[in-house]
Amino acid sequence: MVKTQDDPDYFNRLAHIQTPEFLWIGCSDSRVPANEITGTDPGEIFVHRNVANLVINTDVNLLAVLDYAVNHLKVKHVIVCGHYGCGGIKAATTNIDFKQVLNMWLRNIKDVYRLHREQLDAIKDVDKRCDLLTELNVQEQVANLAKTSIIQRAWKNENRPDLHGWVYGLKDGIIKPVFEMKAGTHIDKLYEYEDL
Ligand SMILES: [Zn+2]
Repeated sequence: MVKTQDDPDYFNRLAHIQTPEFLWIGCSDSRVPANEITGTDPGEIFVHRNVANLVINTDVNLLAVLDYAVNHLKVKHVIVCGHYGCGGIKAATTNIDFKQVLNMWLRNIKDVYRLHREQLDAIKDVDKRCDLLTELNVQEQVANLAKTSIIQRAWKNENRPDLHGWVYGLKDGIIKPVFEMKAGTHIDKLYEYEDL
């Protein structure tokens, strides 16, 4: 399909704007492209994707995207969006050796499971257990964002961005908000920098 057929000005407009208000951190899964599931156009969302939408504080790729989005694009919102039926989440609940480097990556999800083991172990249905782990994982990754000096400095100086944790349903197309941290939210003191 030629994009200019239904919107003749599409590429002209695109060439001039890159002022997104949102940074999207989503899963690499081919079924969850950010623009399509949110009904937004190119130019509206700055995007980073990886397996199971993880925020890892040694991931230079993610941190460079976060730094650019927060400090240069001045985004007002950062969204971590997981999805039900996530293969990465399910894989992390098994004892299968996926070899390096997948084992390294999935370890981060196992750590989330361990933090909520009682609650998760109580759910007998495997899919339902993975659904809850998907939500808890999003919550943990949003908290990981708040632990970065990039976010804390922007919160202190400009009172933005707000952080959001969402989960997308592949079956119904519904986005469920599961967690939120407004700009300026206090976190465990151990992680708060005072000399920003
Ligand atoms: Zn996924």
